[in-house]
Amino acid sequence: MAFSVTSSSAAIYGSGFSRSSSSSDLKVPQIGSFRLANFHATVNLSKKRCAVKPVNAEPKRNDSLLPQAASISAPEVLEKVEAEDFEQLAKELDNASPLEIMDKALEKFGNDVAIAFSGAEDVALIEYAKLTGRPFRVFSLDTGRLNPETYRFFDEVEKHYGIRIEYMFPDAVEVQALVRSKGLFSFYEDGHQECCRVRKVRPLRRALEGLRAWITGQRKDQSPGTRSEVPVVQVDPVFEGLDGGVGSLVKWNPVANVDGIDIWNFLRAMNVPVNSLHSQGFVSVGCEPCTRPVLPGQHEREGRWWWEDAKAKECGLHKGNLKQDSAAQLNGNGNGNGNGAAAHTDIFNSQSLVTLSRAGIENLTRLENRKEPWIVVLYAPWCPYCQAMEESYVALAEKLAGSGVKVAKFRADGEPKEYAQKELQLGSFPTILFFPKHSAKPIKYASEKRDVDSLMAFVNALR
Ligand code: SF4
Repeated sequence: MAFSVTSSSAAIYGSGFSRSSSSSDLKVPQIGSFRLANFHATVNLSKKRCAVKPVNAEPKRNDSLLPQAASISAPEVLEKVEAEDFEQLAKELDNASPLEIMDKALEKFGNDVAIAFSGAEDVALIEYAKLTGRPFRVFSLDTGRLNPETYRFFDEVEKHYGIRIEYMFPDAVEVQALVRSKGLFSFYEDGHQECCRVRKVRPLRRALEGLRAWITGQRKDQSPGTRSEVPVVQVDPVFEGLDGGVGSLVKWNPVANVDGIDIWNFLRAMNVPVNSLHSQGFVSVGCEPCTRPVLPGQHEREGRWWWEDAKAKECGLHKGNLKQDSAAQLNGNGNGNGNGAAAHTDIFNSQSLVTLSRAGIENLTRLENRKEPWIVVLYAPWCPYCQAMEESYVALAEKLAGSGVKVAKFRADGEPKEYAQKELQLGSFPTILFFPKHSAKPIKYASEKRDVDSLMAFVNALR
């Protein structure tokens, strides 16, 4: 592995993006072909003769990632078939530096891998790629809803690295249909998934269909709920690559094990340009209507889709991070009973907690004047986010025992789910409601902070 930190490396990586460069400018070690062996971890990497025309040999930019790239997969003579166990490779690289992981990704996949750049601190990936001295490609999703600062930052990055970012745009007809039928801000009404599907997920899918691997800036510390198990490399569990089918795409996450603070230390040390939104309090950078600055102490993902519950905070680009039940919920087709609900023992077990039946919660919603206020969690025992808040909710019940505030739980998956969605503001699990003394209408707890102090502050503000 030869890492280059000299200025001469710029000439090498820069050539990778110049469509006018000759193919010999690029080090494209092999064009791989993946076939499923064990789709969880192993794909067959078929090393083919490089008689194939390199994607970057064409003079125009539209030959970049995408459907056109599929044209390079013309039948080739297989010289060697080598099974690659990416689960094993992930273990081997788990303690490797991001630079080593990046180098491995570029070495293995050459022109068939590209860095997914969001316009945020994942610019570190581009810096790492530059430092390897190898040619590399960068693509980005232009949703049409990004902040002006992000567009300027894209331009700055292109100039700084001497590259052209390969932008992916949403399908104009799909955007038009969505906006004409539901308006420009439908995501505030019925969730972000539909808009993200049109503006992000489908363009991403198109991009990935022209690749055999992609490189992301996912980190474990970004979202403890959904990203805590991200490996440094994996067979992509969701998207398909150039050869199609499950297991045809490899996903590299070189900074999976790096903390956000260390990414920033690296960016400063290397004097890398950064998005000016960061200096305005934005930690996470996404679409303008769906991203906001966070306060000190707030987690960065709290700045995304803040009007929704934590579970849904993957826009679909990394949906494979969600556990099966959570993914089903995200897709709107989970009822909580189909994926082993019966196998999960009940949660929130405490003598200080009241277990409400359907009749019990219906009665609660009918009372205009209660003797005492109630706080109720709508939950599903299989839901990891409910499981994660069990300790603090039980502690809350014990703190409030005898205080005049009742603490209760209502299991709202399965058959009662529809009722809970219609009548109890259930969006996703867990949903926490406060029933004040003198009003039938419950107040929904809007924050994702589910520690006992935050819940107590909510109760004390309303009791
Ligand atoms: Fe649409 Fe918001 Fe998703 Fe961007 S982040 S695609 S604006 S819902």
